[in-house]
Amino acid sequence: MTEREYAVKLLTDFIRINTTNPPGNEEDAVAFLEDILRREGMETQVYLPVKKRANLISRIKGREKGRPIILLGHIDVVPANPDEWEVHPFSGELKDGFIYGRGTIDMKSQIICHLLAFIGLKKKGIIPERDIVFLATCDEEVGGQYGVEFMLNEVKDLKDASFVLSEGGCIIEEDGFIHAQIAVAEKKLSQFMIKARGTGGHGSMPTKDTANEKIIRACHSILSYEWPVRVTGVVNTYLTGILKGKGLGGFKFPSLKEALKDKRFKKAIEDNPFYNALIKNTVTLTILKSGEKINVIPSESEAYFDARLLPQEDREAFMKKIERLCGRDIEIVRISSGTSDPIPSPYNTGYFKGIKKVIEGSMGEIPVLPSLLTGASDLRYFRNLGIPSYGFFPVVLSKDDVVRMHGRNERIPIEGFCDAVERTHEIVEFLAAYKD
Ligand SMILES: [Zn+2]
Repeated sequence: MTEREYAVKLLTDFIRINTTNPPGNEEDAVAFLEDILRREGMETQVYLPVKKRANLISRIKGREKGRPIILLGHIDVVPANPDEWEVHPFSGELKDGFIYGRGTIDMKSQIICHLLAFIGLKKKGIIPERDIVFLATCDEEVGGQYGVEFMLNEVKDLKDASFVLSEGGCIIEEDGFIHAQIAVAEKKLSQFMIKARGTGGHGSMPTKDTANEKIIRACHSILSYEWPVRVTGVVNTYLTGILKGKGLGGFKFPSLKEALKDKRFKKAIEDNPFYNALIKNTVTLTILKSGEKINVIPSESEAYFDARLLPQEDREAFMKKIERLCGRDIEIVRISSGTSDPIPSPYNTGYFKGIKKVIEGSMGEIPVLPSLLTGASDLRYFRNLGIPSYGFFPVVLSKDDVVRMHGRNERIPIEGFCDAVERTHEIVEFLAAYKD
């Protein structure tokens, strides 16, 4: 078996271990990874936060003590309904030059890349400057409580890491334009629920203060508010790079600042959900709960919002704004927010330059741009601590394949994956030799 065939086999075997979260059941997948490491003569430690959930760590000792470099990946995946897929989502089937399966992009492929590059260091007898830690965790898809959060408390020097590499960016091919995005920052989670109470009763005799009418007014007020455009340094660099390359929405400008003065451009960018999320807070109504019977006026109703704030936003100021929009008669309950205050990582660093060099070595001179992740990842735990953390998987994906992540028929090109294995080897060797 060639190296490339071996990598593909590992990935397909890994995909077949169903780690849908909830419930996760990452134990078997951890055993699978552990077995590979053990066969290479590497030490491993498994941490079990609760039954059937597991985290794995392995370490190559560096010349210097402390401040390890972490290769981080989550083992769990989001649910997939087989009825909606062309192939079974946990078959790891090869079809038309792709490996299909839940987790092929998010993020079992990257874990296999990290694993092979990590083993590669040992095989080549490379002693890194600092400890290199391979860390595979559970539970990312529902918040990371049993995964990264747990591990940060169990393994003390993780909090002292000098650098963390995980998911969040890749090399994207769209309409012939190729660019790499390295996620250096992510938006802040700020999820909340609003609740209205009113007079309940019979549907034949409506009153003026029903819970439903109050909640609808409050929802309308929140949803119709226009959050101002605020361009951060990262987003400015990223979008200016795209503007200079392929242009945005059919427009070409020398810089984002210039472009945003143009009303048509501003509208075009606001109409694109991805770009819009880069320049604004977003507040999305996801759950509405109220009423059970058609002839009964409910006395309570609830609406749930998934809000994502730009990194520089103040959460308290944001919640004050929500309170004002809702008015006095509405109760606001915060759902998840305290765990996320990620500090953007600098990108004028040796880490960025080193990774850029690896990309250019195999791809030629393509734009390598820092980017903002609109979702939340486990890297936020490290970013919360101010540890430089990059989300980057060195695979080339088409825009079409990127959007399959968390969706139907998630897949990764076989050749693209094998190329990513090689680039990850180079990145990890760079990290092993690097000292900041
Ligand atoms: Zn992920």
